[in-house]
Amino acid sequence: MNAATIQAFTSTLRGKVIQPGDADYDSARKVYNAMIDKRPRMIVRCADVADVIAAVNYARDQKLLLAVRGGGHNGGGLGICDDGLVIDLSTMRGIRVDPTARTVRVEGGATWGDVDHATHAFGLACPSGVISTTGVGGLTLGGGIGHLTRNFGLAIDNLLEVDMVLADGRFVRASEKENADLFWAIRGGGGNFGVVTSFMFRLHPVKNVIGGPTLWHLEQTGEVMRWYRDFIRKAPPALNGWFAFITVPPVPPFPEALHLKKVCAVVWNYSGPESEAEKVFAPIKAFGPPALYGIHAMPYPALQAAFDPLYPPGHQWYWRADFVKELSDAAIAVHAKFAAQMPTPQSTMHMYPIDGKAHAVGNADTAFSYRDANWAAVIVGVDPDPGKREAITEWTKRYWEALHPHSAGGAYVNFMMDEGQERVQATYRGNYERLAAVKQKYDPSNLFRVNQNVKPASAVPAHA
Ligand SMILES: Cc1cc2nc3c(=O)[nH]c(=O)nc-3n(C[C@H](O)[C@H](O)[C@H](O)COP(=O)(O)OP(=O)(O)OC[C@H]3O[C@@H](n4cnc5c(N)ncnc54)[C@H](O)[C@@H]3O)c2cc1C
Repeated sequence: MNAATIQAFTSTLRGKVIQPGDADYDSARKVYNAMIDKRPRMIVRCADVADVIAAVNYARDQKLLLAVRGGGHNGGGLGICDDGLVIDLSTMRGIRVDPTARTVRVEGGATWGDVDHATHAFGLACPSGVISTTGVGGLTLGGGIGHLTRNFGLAIDNLLEVDMVLADGRFVRASEKENADLFWAIRGGGGNFGVVTSFMFRLHPVKNVIGGPTLWHLEQTGEVMRWYRDFIRKAPPALNGWFAFITVPPVPPFPEALHLKKVCAVVWNYSGPESEAEKVFAPIKAFGPPALYGIHAMPYPALQAAFDPLYPPGHQWYWRADFVKELSDAAIAVHAKFAAQMPTPQSTMHMYPIDGKAHAVGNADTAFSYRDANWAAVIVGVDPDPGKREAITEWTKRYWEALHPHSAGGAYVNFMMDEGQERVQATYRGNYERLAAVKQKYDPSNLFRVNQNVKPASAVPAHA
């Protein structure tokens, strides 16, 4: 790339180009996980779809490695790359709610906090995750698991259409009616197929919810996990509850007696009729009883943002994950052992239910192939101090290695780091070949490869 070529490209843009040497280069290349330290050649902070088209064409023509950044939360740092061009969508965050049709159109760089803020004003919500700073782009394209999954399905089950820029620079719409093969693939297939410049979702009448955490002492792990696995599967879909091992933060509203204690927790969200809530929560209140029963009514965006202060950007994160069908007693024994060894206060293990409404969709109906699993589990070693990097990595790996034999095989793509092709294929299993065929059609040269990469069919042996 000579200066004239760069100049010719940048002069066509409305957005900003940031290069090594620029004052904001170091802040612009930072992603959420501080373990990731990549140095792109050029960050194109796109202002609009025209900028995205120009940047895709430029990266392709100049044979540059291309990364696409939505919210920048990806554990493996797949929203950025070394020595290539980054399409940074972080200023494309426009949102338009249609309260009559109960839909929302969201630009590709918005966060879920942006969406919650906009939809809550109309008493509506879209199923997403559990932290408001996560990007709509990456979370949705991988599936989207969160507080509303059991009641309304994954984020992709509520996706109605997308606008996309493809590898050849074409702008297309994908929905059940238009480019249906592409629409199938992007619902779980990640950023493999192009840049999504806007998403349109179906909304649900959710304004205030009843939820929060219940905590039990770590010594009760065995009985709590056994109770939880049976309880949640039979609970009404309007009740969501994800299991976690946490270290209690030393701040209100947590009682001082629990500060910095390792505990088992379930974080609940009830989005059904208020009149039923007492009956729904009665067995939860009675079990144990919990060391903390933190359930109360709150606006849905408050629950979505409740964990944001505990996990600000800039910590070290090491991730490992698996889908889980059955939580056996043998697996529970592994959990109990490693929960007691959590190496830092923010390290954690979560199990997110993916049953209820998410089970109404078949394994092959979207690219997300593990509809028959009951949980997506994730182990993350987390700490602000780079000096703890080895400790959090070691604990996560040892925990995962002991637990993996009890899992369903593959993992949720959004909870994986850069773990190689075998892991990607294990995750898409029966859907991989169809994804590779769609990839061949829309991105035959694998321009979009900074992701959990699906290789174009011509690059994959027929039996893979
Ligand atoms: C603190 C934290 C909490 C989380 N909680 C949840 C949760 O509750 N539920 C859940 O399902 N996941 C959760 N995740 C995982 C999250 O879904 C992934 O990290 C996801 O990749 C983040 O998306 P992003 O847009 O922020 O990331 P980025 O790093 O910007 O991008 C991730 C990937 O998506 C692609 N991508 C992003 N936007 C676009 C776009 N518009 N068009 C094309 N490709 C795009 C990128 O190219 C990249 O490959 C969490 C992650 C973190 C760090």
